Amino acid sequence: MSTENINYPVAERLQALSESATIAMAVKARELQDQGHHVIKLNLGEPDFPTPENVQKAAIKAIEDGKHFSYSPVPGYPELRQGIADKLKKDNSLDYKPEDIVVSTGAKQSIANVLLSLVNPGEEVIIFTPYWVTYIEQVKLAGGKAVLVEGGIENDFKVTPEQLKAAITDKTKAIMFSSPCNPTGSVFTKEELGALAEVIKAHKNIFVISDEIYEYINFGGQHASMAEFADIKDRVVIINGFSKGFAMTGWRVGYIAAPTWIAKACNKLQGQFTSGTCSIAQRAALAAITGDRAATDQMAEAYLRRRNLVKGLLDEIDGIKTNEPKGAFYIFPDISAFFGKSNGETTINNSYDFAMYLLQDAHVSVVDGGAFGAPNCIRISFAASDEELKEAIVRIKNSLEKLK
Ligand code: PMP
Repeated sequence: MSTENINYPVAERLQALSESATIAMAVKARELQDQGHHVIKLNLGEPDFPTPENVQKAAIKAIEDGKHFSYSPVPGYPELRQGIADKLKKDNSLDYKPEDIVVSTGAKQSIANVLLSLVNPGEEVIIFTPYWVTYIEQVKLAGGKAVLVEGGIENDFKVTPEQLKAAITDKTKAIMFSSPCNPTGSVFTKEELGALAEVIKAHKNIFVISDEIYEYINFGGQHASMAEFADIKDRVVIINGFSKGFAMTGWRVGYIAAPTWIAKACNKLQGQFTSGTCSIAQRAALAAITGDRAATDQMAEAYLRRRNLVKGLLDEIDGIKTNEPKGAFYIFPDISAFFGKSNGETTINNSYDFAMYLLQDAHVSVVDGGAFGAPNCIRISFAASDEELKEAIVRIKNSLEKLK
């Protein structure tokens, strides 16, 4: 029986959420695979490397020790919060106390905690666009209004201080962005962040939610954080986690570093939702953050090599316009030159059509930019082997040559 026309009484807050636009693509990709086609998946937002061995071993030891089978403290084990505070001092020259840190079930939960703790219904959250999909949905869940401010490809997808200034109203509660950025790979320099901080300094009621989860995948060297600016540090919440830099997506460990009162609020909220995250995963995260970073550095080197490979090959295709990603593992080309073109059967009207065409014709899956608020672009992940990446871009090139 079809359930399509039945109106289930789902709560209104859920009705406002968007369905993932990529579901139809995922279904199509599965269909093609079931038919025996080799689909190259460049749509995923996760490292293609295993979790480093020292981290895996720490989890095994946590089980063998037999001490980590109970609920952990809501904001995370004290040793892990101290380890994170030490990391912030060592890597970022930032002073935080363990009480300022809340460990959560992934950075995704960290962001939800912060938004639900800070945003009142009707308040505005400025989101730098292109944005990570979840931001806008979580702002809606908190009852807030997402205000999108767009950085164009000509400015490396970065929002300028003037744009930020123009978007601030008396309802603005927070500003949220990622650097390095998912989906564009753009990285704000310390000077650029400083210029944004200068704007924020004048607005004492505005908070910054600074998503730094790709910190360790930065091709330009030293990571810069919004919390480095003393004038606004008491209004900055750093979001970070273990998923990307330590290839730990499935372990579900993220954290915030924030003014103590915000950490307390998140702790209160988390205590009613999930409690502390998985005790074993926390022991693994402690090994990751206190241990040798060789595996992280090697992964970052591989992403840089692949960035160069993918950008070089894409730049040889007529009609594709790229920026140079300075971090993360995505490239976000503008493909709008293909809008209106057709292979005789399919006409490309937007980035969703473009992504679907690549899937059907080239058997390469990417994500359409509409999902990130940038309908002229597509997101290609280069968290895949060099061979797969080369093969994928040859296939893309061949498919695009059929469009007239
Ligand atoms: N922020 C950004 C920008 C991301 O890309 C992701 C993962 N795709 C997250 C946060 C969430 O990471 P996790 O919940 O796995 O820690």
